[in-house]
Amino acid sequence: MIPTPISASEPDSESDAASGLTDGPTDDFLTDPAQALRVMMEGNARFVSGNPEHPNQDAGRRTALAPAQRPFAVLFGCSDSRLAAEIIFDQGLGDLFVVRTAGHVTGAEALGSIEYGVSVLDCPLVVVLGHDSCGAVAAALDSLEQGRMPSGFVRDVVERVTPSVLSAKAAGIEDRDAIVDVHIRQTVDLLVERSQALAARVAEGKVAVVGLSYRLLDGRARLVSAHGPVG
Ligand SMILES: [Zn+2]
Repeated sequence: MIPTPISASEPDSESDAASGLTDGPTDDFLTDPAQALRVMMEGNARFVSGNPEHPNQDAGRRTALAPAQRPFAVLFGCSDSRLAAEIIFDQGLGDLFVVRTAGHVTGAEALGSIEYGVSVLDCPLVVVLGHDSCGAVAAALDSLEQGRMPSGFVRDVVERVTPSVLSAKAAGIEDRDAIVDVHIRQTVDLLVERSQALAARVAEGKVAVVGLSYRLLDGRARLVSAHGPVG
C-alpha cells in the first residue's frame, strides 16, 4: 500500500500534504521495525520520568488525520484500565493501532485486527503488552489450582491463558509475574505461528513482533521477546 501523506500543520495545503507529517516525534512514516520500537520505548521513558510530551493530540493533528491513518505500530495489549496505550507510550492520534483483550488472549477477531494493522495499514511493528499482577493470568492460575472454571464468557479468557500457565508450571516457574512473562512470550509466538500474514512479513524483515512486560508501579515497559529485526 502506498503511504497516504498527511500534513499536521497545513491540512488543506496539497503541497504540504505531499511532504508528509510535520509535527511530533512520529512525523516521518516509520517503515523500520527497530526504529518503530525505539519510538515506543522513548515515549515510555518520557512517561516513566514524568516528562511526557503528549504529541499529536491537538486539533491540527485531528484534522490532518481525518482523510487517512498511518499508525506506526499495532499494540495488542491486556485490557487492564491501567494500560492505556497512548498514555503509557506517550503517543497521540494516529500513532498506534490498538487491539486489547483481557489477558491479551487471541481469537479470530483479535488476529484479524492485528493482521489488518500489518497488511492493510503497513505497520512495521506489533507489540504484545502484558503486565505484572494481570487479573486474567491470576484467574487462570486460580482456576487450575482450585479445579473450577469461571462461568460465562470469562471462561473463554481463562481457557486461552491456561496453556501459558501450564507451560510455565511445567518449567518449574511459580512466581506469578514470571508466569506473566511466559504468557507474553507465548502470545508473541502464537501470533507469528497462527498468522501467515505476520509470519511472511517477519521472514522478509519488514515487520517485528515483540513482547513487552509493563510494571504497574513505575510504568516501565521491558522487552521480553522479539521476532524479526529490532536490532
Ligand atoms: Zn491484565
